[in-house]
Amino acid sequence: STGLVWFRRDLRTDDNAALSRALACCDTVYCVFVYDKAILDKLPRQDRRVEFIQESVTALESSLQALRGHASRTLITLHDVAQSAIPELSKQLQASAVFAARDYEPAAVTRDTAVQQQLLAEGKQLVLVKDQVIFEEREVLTQTGKPYGVFTPYHRAWLARIGMELVPGHDVGRGNAVLSVAPDALAQPLPSLADLGFEATNLRALGMHGGSAAGEAMLQDFVGRMDRYSEARNFPSVKGPSYLGVHLRFGTVSIRKLVNLALQRVRTGSEGASVWLAELAWRDFYFQILANFPHVATQAFKPEYDAIAWEQGEEAEALFEAWCEGKTGYPIVDAAMAQLNQTGYMHNRLRMVAGSFLVKHLGLDWRWGEKYFALKLNDFDLSANNGGWQWVASSGCDAQPYFRIFNPVTQSEKFDGQGKFIKRYLPQLAGLSDKAIHAPWLAKPMELAAAGVQIGSNYPSPVVDHAKARARTLARYGFLKKST
Ligand code: FAD
Repeated sequence: STGLVWFRRDLRTDDNAALSRALACCDTVYCVFVYDKAILDKLPRQDRRVEFIQESVTALESSLQALRGHASRTLITLHDVAQSAIPELSKQLQASAVFAARDYEPAAVTRDTAVQQQLLAEGKQLVLVKDQVIFEEREVLTQTGKPYGVFTPYHRAWLARIGMELVPGHDVGRGNAVLSVAPDALAQPLPSLADLGFEATNLRALGMHGGSAAGEAMLQDFVGRMDRYSEARNFPSVKGPSYLGVHLRFGTVSIRKLVNLALQRVRTGSEGASVWLAELAWRDFYFQILANFPHVATQAFKPEYDAIAWEQGEEAEALFEAWCEGKTGYPIVDAAMAQLNQTGYMHNRLRMVAGSFLVKHLGLDWRWGEKYFALKLNDFDLSANNGGWQWVASSGCDAQPYFRIFNPVTQSEKFDGQGKFIKRYLPQLAGLSDKAIHAPWLAKPMELAAAGVQIGSNYPSPVVDHAKARARTLARYGFLKKST
């Protein structure tokens, strides 16, 4: 039989579940990636993710050729609407089944259901396999068979389910089939960014590359730091985390590989590895939250939080704009937003601080922030982003209580004591002392003058007062007192 592997968020050949399944089930296997117009047409013309994907698809073609042992075009690429293009292509190739890694986002589920229906009408199958997660939404449940809404018991059950055994991978070298060369009519040159209607970004200048070799290099770089992760991960000026989020997003690394590497280190007693492994479990946790409680994509996990009256109108919009542009007057928040705008990455601690600032200092709907992060983050993932935003807004599962309001100045002093991170992104504040940099509006005029800082001119005055904002938030959330 003939199979078609449809690559989506699994842009690698190593430990690829869909590819491995197709090679095991079919005699002939074709491969396709669709630059889906239904997704791409909505994006700004400069988007680091599109560039990352384009590089990853080019690298995927080389890996497929290496797997085939032959340098002829193997990957078919289409620039089309996937929902109709995939059934059409399967007809053209006379494939009896399409193989793909399951995607849990509501829009992807809708698309896949539509594809499945069209294939079924032709007597063909869509075979969806688990690839992106360690455990799917019905695999880790409470004793009464319900999904978990709190992380700690979920994490315990997740670890128990793994049982300290390495997670089995998918061997793509053991199938019976051979990968087929793309038919001539479909073997067009791989599209460039310009062919797709996009412009280059600063991805290269940032030293970021798509493709599984780049993911592997990043992973190897992190392996040496993994033992120190639990301390280093909190300080944005330090190279603490793995920065692998974008590779996980597009599947240029295998989640099983990461978990297994962490498990091996956990066995040697590494505290850093077990904290990092817990972060990978958070990733699964939010995937299962989105799959089991799909209302979270648009509403609060806890429905009573949808009754909160957020700020609206021109003033609210101006505050939102100041936040997006990193002009709130709070250096740690502004530096965080500058990092996001300039690189597409934001350190986890700062996602919490900047997110909390939007919701609990500016009084803005968390969905505004969620949307902005979705537009900018290289590693944007609906489930983790939504989980993170509902966490800061206190409206989600296992969220921080609404009356816990991060003080951006204290957070800055604690996690960027010498202002190293702030200075990297806000060079106009570089001359300020370790004490003044966290709240420049409180600095002595002499110090500001000596450092060349003019509040309200080359650096904004704070858009809100912390104490007043805190009081307003407590009042805004106050009606929930009885129900929380
Ligand atoms: P590392 O610290 O090296 O962690 C390794 C991996 O574990 C990450 O790449 C990620 O896949 C996973 N992970 C770590 N922390 C979390 C977490 N809290 N929730 C779920 N998965 C986690 N993460 C995303 O992948 N995409 C998002 O769109 C996203 N949006 C967020 C929005 C907010 C408001 C907050 C507070 C957090 C968000 N996170 C998101 C979670 C976390 O900040 C990032 O995963 C992490 O900063 C990515 O950097 P890293 O790859 O260096 O992570």
